[in-house]
Amino acid sequence: GDTRIDREVHSVCPFCGVGCQLTFKIRDDKILYAEGRDGPANEERLCIKGRFGFDYIHNPERLTTPLIRKEGIAKDDVATLDPANPLTHFREASWEEALELAANGLIQVRETKGGNALAGFGSAKGSNEEAYLFQKLVRTGFGTNNVDHCTRLCHASSVAALLETVGSGAVSAPFNEAENAEVIMVIGSNPTINHPVAATFFKNAVKKGAKLIIIDPRGQSLSRHATYMLQEKPGTDVALLNSMMHVIVKEGLTDKDYIKNHTENFAELKAHLDGFSPEAMEKVTGIDPDLIRDVAREFATAKSSIIFWGMGISQHVHGTDNSRCLISLSLMTGQVGRPGTGLHPLRGQNNVQGASDVALIPMFLPDYQSVEDPVIRERFEKFWNADIDPNKGLTVVEITEAVHKGTINGMYIMGENPAMSDPNVSHAREALSLLDHLVVQDLFLTETAAYADVVLPASAWPEKDGTVTNTNRQVQMGRAAVPMPGDARQDLWIIQEMAKRLGLDWNYGHVKEVFTEMTQVMGSIKGISWDRLENADAVIYPCESPEDPGQPLIFTENFPTKNGLGKFVPASLISPDETPDQDFPTVLTTGRLLEHWHTGSMTRRSEVLDAVEPEPIVHMAPGMMENLEILPGDLVTVSSRRGQLDIKVRADGGVQNGMIFIPFCYAEAAANLLTNDALDPFGKIAEVKFCAVKVEKK
Ligand code: SF4
Repeated sequence: GDTRIDREVHSVCPFCGVGCQLTFKIRDDKILYAEGRDGPANEERLCIKGRFGFDYIHNPERLTTPLIRKEGIAKDDVATLDPANPLTHFREASWEEALELAANGLIQVRETKGGNALAGFGSAKGSNEEAYLFQKLVRTGFGTNNVDHCTRLCHASSVAALLETVGSGAVSAPFNEAENAEVIMVIGSNPTINHPVAATFFKNAVKKGAKLIIIDPRGQSLSRHATYMLQEKPGTDVALLNSMMHVIVKEGLTDKDYIKNHTENFAELKAHLDGFSPEAMEKVTGIDPDLIRDVAREFATAKSSIIFWGMGISQHVHGTDNSRCLISLSLMTGQVGRPGTGLHPLRGQNNVQGASDVALIPMFLPDYQSVEDPVIRERFEKFWNADIDPNKGLTVVEITEAVHKGTINGMYIMGENPAMSDPNVSHAREALSLLDHLVVQDLFLTETAAYADVVLPASAWPEKDGTVTNTNRQVQMGRAAVPMPGDARQDLWIIQEMAKRLGLDWNYGHVKEVFTEMTQVMGSIKGISWDRLENADAVIYPCESPEDPGQPLIFTENFPTKNGLGKFVPASLISPDETPDQDFPTVLTTGRLLEHWHTGSMTRRSEVLDAVEPEPIVHMAPGMMENLEILPGDLVTVSSRRGQLDIKVRADGGVQNGMIFIPFCYAEAAANLLTNDALDPFGKIAEVKFCAVKVEKK
């Protein structure tokens, strides 16, 4: 054993949706380091975040006592606020005073303007139990379905397309199935950066003989392992995928039996694809028609082909259309429901799958049951012993708009940071400052908490027991490893205290009781008990009974749609909402870095991770740098119609000329000051992967 440590605790990594199991190694109640365990998603592997990213929980900036905004400090007075010294703008308070104020402000809005003048953002970083209780509080305590979380900025469009076509929003196969695939297609995703341990499964599959197809406007290191790398023009996925399907149809490479027995609407799609020859689409996509033909043939004729996609597909005004095309491609070739095949939107946050499953979303009750269906609603009303608003609620960006319009006046935000993560973030920040009442529950005084009336100090993942669900649909057990600092409290306790003050008679004891209630209303996890998870650490759903091992592959017989069939939905070309012009000639795309997580509130407070990537940078093609006469490290001003920022340049041969990439984790140069908040009409996801900007040498 390691003599430096005095104990160890088995848990799960809190960063990405891969869901690596790990062991925290602890000395004097501090996490010294972590080691990978043999979990189903990681087989002992961890990436740099899972190895070195835990000192954020011991950071001196952790909130350790409730805070209340000082009288006379305006909500938009954030420029002089230092997260390390919040006492310039806030005063410390007891839990009793802070909770009373937090709840009373919400009650006042509810009583004067009605429940729909309130909204809640929960978190994909908390446990399933926290997400479940949070949405239940908003629905039954606030009296509204205005509850959402970062899935809206993540895979909302993928889920909209999956529910519409194949009846289930989760992945059809775990990413481990890549090892049984002859062809692996990765599109709009950079897994080496964003799902690093999943990428190791793809690389291993290639070593064993699988062919890898990568389609992305930006180059990436995984392409070294690829047979095909299609670097399309940004925002042209529908054109590219339709042209692939055009080839498959014209060359008779469809799976006719599969189409006949398992799908509907193929004739309509077939007719639609007529105008999408690779030659006709070349001017849109910039991809050689011969290459499209080769890739289409490889995908269709392989014994097993599997598709992985990420935010490059989903974060567009045509995000739902992009996913519809991927689903059609799989269905027409019968590449689903068998080993080595499937549809896998790689989930971003560690618990975005679970938080969505338990209904931290405005249109569904747990397990994606429509809140607008009176029979379903009545069932939940009985079970929860409370009324539920019959109308679906507003989504993240719609809530910002409603605040601007004055129809939403109070919010409770737990573990989300819209002041950094929302598109067109100045507009979102202004909305936060306009609220009559804002309660924020978090680990740090985030950019969002800076606008709060009341700040409640919360618990970090390694400080609590609870379950999370990864991208593979594996429900996994997390365990408290270290105590909370100061007077920070468990999120479950805080939610319950808020619920009590909002008039709900809740008496959950151990977190296990919340999980048990979830299994009573969610058929998908019916067979998973807390004790089973305590022993197994991970169980995959759907899991119908205690004996059911869980089903890694779904859609093996039919689809969970009304008639059991998968549906083809044709997609037409829609241009990005804002295309480059003379004033703003360059395309901006945004995303993450390997070392930093999301808005940076955790990883920028982690010494090793922030030391590797300490400052904001814009990635730019060497050719573009030459035209602008700039060198690596020079400062440029990047501006869009919505904002501007100054940032250092990094040369990146993977970025196309006429395009730049900015990670969105840096508060000093927040990429979302520039991004566009135009929405996909189906998934209501914003087009943060494409907007027009101008780059000038400073
Ligand atoms: Fe954590 Fe994801 Fe890295 Fe695994 S791959 S260690 S889950 S960040």
